[in-house]
Formats: sequence, C-alpha cells, structure tokens
Amino acid sequence: MKNFDPKYNDIPKTEIHCHLEGAIRTQTIIDVAREYNISLPSYEVAELDRHVKVLDQMRDLQAVLEAFDIFQRSITSPAVFERIAWELFEDCAKQNIKLFEVRFSPDWAFHGHNLNWDACLEGLLRAQERAEREFDMAIGIIAITSRGMGAESCVRTVDWAIRHRKHIQAVDLADGELLYPAADFVKPILKARDAGLKVTIHTGEDTPASYVIETIKNFKPDRIGHGIHSIEDMKAVEMLIEKRITLEVNPWSNYLTNSVPTIEAHPLKRLFDLGVRVTINSDDPEVLETNVNNEYRIAHEILGMSMEDIQTCNRFAFESSFIDPAKTKPIWEKYFQ
Ligand SMILES: [Zn+2]
Repeated sequence: MKNFDPKYNDIPKTEIHCHLEGAIRTQTIIDVAREYNISLPSYEVAELDRHVKVLDQMRDLQAVLEAFDIFQRSITSPAVFERIAWELFEDCAKQNIKLFEVRFSPDWAFHGHNLNWDACLEGLLRAQERAEREFDMAIGIIAITSRGMGAESCVRTVDWAIRHRKHIQAVDLADGELLYPAADFVKPILKARDAGLKVTIHTGEDTPASYVIETIKNFKPDRIGHGIHSIEDMKAVEMLIEKRITLEVNPWSNYLTNSVPTIEAHPLKRLFDLGVRVTINSDDPEVLETNVNNEYRIAHEILGMSMEDIQTCNRFAFESSFIDPAKTKPIWEKYFQ
C-alpha cells in the first residue's frame, strides 16, 4: 500500500528502478479513455482499480506482466505521455524523492498507437525539465528494450537511445527472463555500452542465481534490476561485490510476482549484510500500489534494516546513478549530507 507516514516520507530519497508504464494514475487512465474512446471495464476509479492494480500475490511474474495491457493502451499520444511523466514526477516529489531515474520501453509503450518515439521523448524532456526546476530534483532517463519484443526491437531501441544519448543515460533489458534467451540481445547491448551508455539488466528476479552469473559475464552490466536470487549462490554474491554491481531491488514487487514466497523471506537485508550494494525501489508504483515510502517501511519494519542501513542504500543509489554527477552532486550535498 502507498505510504505517506512522515517517518518515511520526510526522508530525502533516491529511486533508480521505476517503470513509467507502470506508473499511470487510475484517474489518468479514465481521462485518456474518455478522450480517445478507449473501452475500459469501468470509468470509476475504485472500480477500475480492481482491474489495473495487483494487490495480492500472483501466480508468477508473467501473470503480473499481463496486467499491463490497459496501461499500454493508455499511452495514446506524446501529450498523454508527457502528462503521465509529469504526474509521476509529482508523485515522486510528494515522497521527497530527490534523485530519480525513470525508465520506459519505447517499442512496447508506443507501438500500439504507432506514436513517434522522438515526439514522445520531447514530451518527457519537457516534464523532466519542469520537475527538476519546480521540485529541485535530479532526473535521469533509461531506455528499456523488452525481451518480448524480440532482437530486432532491441537493435532499434539501442540505436535510438544512442542517437539521444544527450538525454538518455542508459539501456535496460527487461521483461520475463525465462521465456527469452539472453543470447539474442548481447550484441546490441554491448553496442550501447561501446557508445557510452550505461547498462542495467533485469535478471535474477524470478530466475536462479546462475542467470545473474551469466548476465554479468555476457553483458558486463553496471547495475542489475532485482538480482535477488543471487542470494542462493555465493559465487553470484561474490561477483556482485567484486565488480561493485549495484542491485536495484523492489521488495513488494518481488512478493507480488511470487519471486519470493513471503515478504518476510525477502533477501534484501541478507544481501546488504553480505556487502552487496543494494538499493530500494518501487518498480511499478501504480500497478503494484506501492511507493518508496512503503518499500522503506518493509525494509525497516519487516526485514529489520536500520534507518542508517537505508541511508546507505541511498548512497549506493547516488554512487551508481547514471545521471551526470554535475547534476546529482549538488542535490546530494544539499539534501542527503
Ligand atoms: Zn523492473
């Protein structure tokens, strides 16, 4: 559940793993559907919430990904994309998030309504510029290539991100890892790295530690999305520590996708105690009805991390952020020190 307890809300925060497509407010889905004649199961927020939010633990990750259909159909124009981005930044500001990296998959988000990728990016950049100014925060952008969209889409997305590397800092390979072999994506991802983009990969979310090890070998990522199953093999843990690879962990998401059996069993603290550079994030705040405050509450009250431990996670996020340090350093010194 979203949380605005001042105990957590007042703490300046970082978030480096958040999907824009999973962060659309229910009211916005309804407004867009009315404007663009999109059929919805309901046009009332409380009723539609039952269709667009994952509130209980699901069978597996794939079942949660399928819940994204209405979100995908809601991205109907560059102006709508700009509105969604702006509202997400507003929601970040409400939680006192000061360093924020947003990610989205252009091919997945824009192909349904055949939107112009550059026009959508321009909208996002307008929202970013305004939010940085009005909320005094540093915002970064990550382009996702979705495994499910195939290898050709990966090439297209990487080339697009390279073309816009003035505004896009990194690429991410996302989507269910079990269904799609990594080999198809190695070449384009390494091309992105060679062009100066940073790399993060979703791995070890619902897959065993061996996937994390293979991902590190194949993609040489700067960071890893989730990576929680590393805990099952000390070799994976040692690789993460030795290579200083930061994990972007999303505890409540991992519970809802059944990637951990119970929230109490989540390995966030165990990874932290072993010396892995873990960070605390929300993943898809609207779909999963969470926020970073809630993730802090879980880390502190359920998993037993101290508030100092949580501050250390913020430092890991700052140190591994893909945003230009010229932008993050003043924010860090002003709010976090
Ligand atoms: Zn994710």
